[in-house]
Amino acid sequence: MKTGGTIIIVGGGVVGSSIAYHLRRDGHDGRLVVVERDPTYARASSSLAMGGVRQQFSSAVNIGLARYSRRFYAEFDDTMRVPGHHPRVNFRSRGYLFLVDEASSSRFEARVERQRGLGAQVERLGLDALADRLPGVRLDDIRFGVFGADDGYLEPRDVLRGFRAAAAAAGAEFVPAEVTGLLRRSDRVVGVELADGTTVGGEAVAVVNAAGPFAARLGAMAGLELPVYPVRQQLFRCALPTPWPYRFPVVIDPTGVHWRHDDPVTESDPDRLIVACTRLGEPPGENFECDLSRWEADFRPPLVRRVPRLEAATLVDGWAGLYAMTPDHNPLLGEHPDAPGFFLANGFSGHGLMIAPAVGKVLSELIRTGRSDTVDVSSLDPGRFDRGELVHDEAMI
Ligand SMILES: Cc1cc2nc3c(=O)[nH]c(=O)nc-3n(C[C@H](O)[C@H](O)[C@H](O)COP(=O)(O)OP(=O)(O)OC[C@H]3O[C@@H](n4cnc5c(N)ncnc54)[C@H](O)[C@@H]3O)c2cc1C
Repeated sequence: MKTGGTIIIVGGGVVGSSIAYHLRRDGHDGRLVVVERDPTYARASSSLAMGGVRQQFSSAVNIGLARYSRRFYAEFDDTMRVPGHHPRVNFRSRGYLFLVDEASSSRFEARVERQRGLGAQVERLGLDALADRLPGVRLDDIRFGVFGADDGYLEPRDVLRGFRAAAAAAGAEFVPAEVTGLLRRSDRVVGVELADGTTVGGEAVAVVNAAGPFAARLGAMAGLELPVYPVRQQLFRCALPTPWPYRFPVVIDPTGVHWRHDDPVTESDPDRLIVACTRLGEPPGENFECDLSRWEADFRPPLVRRVPRLEAATLVDGWAGLYAMTPDHNPLLGEHPDAPGFFLANGFSGHGLMIAPAVGKVLSELIRTGRSDTVDVSSLDPGRFDRGELVHDEAMI
């Protein structure tokens, strides 16, 4: 097991910071550098996410990553306290509920069985149970619900702050700089070059790509074509005229629109919802522009159809961030086969926040020991696309 030597992580979002934290916790006692070009994280996906945390996947590897992470998040506010920083990620275990209509019922029936068989906490809710749980939600076209009672949501920016503070307290150095080149010795990646012309490393034991939606740009610096591409995802926040009488789980409508509560922080705050609706066919690109017309066009109509009282909700704000997509919508985890020493933690395709704790743990294991024991992530290795071995997990939203 390697414990010493320099490790450099490029990107200090939730993924890079979680890897740094886990490396230290697991005993890496060499130099540990996290290079982050924007300490405000204005465009980091970690700042812009919705905050949903679920175990409802349909592959063993994703369920394994999600279960580790869910346990981690449930205790985050206590276990990640460090001098000067008390995190408040406020994990609310209010559940994740897929509403299933006729068209998708047989697919979901099979999925629930499979998820249960793989150890996910998930149950099928009949219409009476749904009506009790969700007063005011129209169910006339719904057959049943699939509910993960242990799942829920949290505050993404506080997760980021918490991981970063804990990693720094454990001795990770956060360097505010842009990586513009990778140093190679023969085929090994051994360090990074920064925008000011200085270098870090030169004989690093590992350089980790945790550059989020910009991962392919970093890969190109090593002459690699990584199958990771940015795709815009938009969210809207709306305010309710009066407090909603109960708290929503994350609710996923058959149309794809999904929402969660954004609880009032002070007494004068209105009750609010955060609403998402993935646009199939959104073109790849680094597009951060929020298209406000989508609220009336795509988001509000299915939301109001499902919950008629939300007719009175008013738009507060909207924003756009980038999903880092891969061809099979699953991440690349592990050392690149053509660039020894270059480890990838990329391509989370819209579910990187919810599995960031486990990703930190398994990358720490892969870097130090060459294998991941906590969750076997060998099926997510970066060489799988060249071998034509895509990972199928149908539970993507
Ligand atoms: C609108 C939206 C909603 C989402 N909702 C959810 C959700 O509900 N649940 C969920 O699990 N996931 C969600 N996601 C996905 C989740 O946010 C990401 O998968 C996760 O945050 C990825 O974290 P990361 O650290 O890899 O990337 P990022 O947070 O983007 O961090 C990458 C960092 O790398 C830095 N960087 C890049 N290149 C360089 C360089 N050359 N030099 C130095 N630094 C560099 C960037 O500045 C950035 O800070 C959502 C994403 C979006 C956009």
